Amino acid sequence: MTSDQKINPEKAERHKKRMQRKEEIVDASIERADKNKGLLIVLTGNGKGKSSSAFGMLARALGHGMSGGVAQFIKGRTDTGEEAFFSKQDNVTWHVLGGGFSWKTQDLAADTEKAEMGWQIALPMLQDPEIDLVILDELTYPLKYGWLDTETILTAIAARPPMQHVVITGRAAPKAVIEAADTVSEIGDIKHAFRAGIKAQQGIDL
Ligand code: ATP
Ligand code: MG
Repeated sequence: MTSDQKINPEKAERHKKRMQRKEEIVDASIERADKNKGLLIVLTGNGKGKSSSAFGMLARALGHGMSGGVAQFIKGRTDTGEEAFFSKQDNVTWHVLGGGFSWKTQDLAADTEKAEMGWQIALPMLQDPEIDLVILDELTYPLKYGWLDTETILTAIAARPPMQHVVITGRAAPKAVIEAADTVSEIGDIKHAFRAGIKAQQGIDL
């Protein structure tokens, strides 16, 4: 270390004071955050990591002996690693509701009917106080395309058991959903391997 790289004692003291003030502020905020509540969490945006974050929270919840319910609204697939793993767990209910519909379909009446059937399967989870965490994976798409009525869904979410947490994932979350949520994260798309011609990788993308 050369002499001009040595830490100036005044600077070190200023830094220490600044960090102390910061610590006091953070401690005070932690002290103030004393409420418990079932949260509505929305994970949206164009980047990768929305569903996998939701399943990360499911793993956390199960680790605490909590229970989870998952409804997958778009993917009519049953071969994902998450389903293979979580549906084997005692405390998890798992529904793949995609059926035949996806963003590729163009038949509005059929899509609406399938989405409504899916919602009727998901709804009882939001009425079951035994389920601590409900994940409505890719729910934003049926809302965005109008297959499901956003107000109806938000009303059911608002009426859920008070300590139940709900996570909604999917791109382009409607404004009303964002407004109703307690926590919203938007995952940005900075880079994705797919655009370099790399196909979906097992254990990473499915
Ligand atoms: P993940 O399930 O990996 O957390 P996600 O839920 O954020 O992803 P979705 O829109 O549900 O994203 O897409 C799921 C699949 O699409 C995954 O295989 C994921 O890697 C891929 N994907 C996500 N974002 C992008 C993107 N920006 N470009 C291309 N493919 C993407
Ligand atoms: Mg997803």
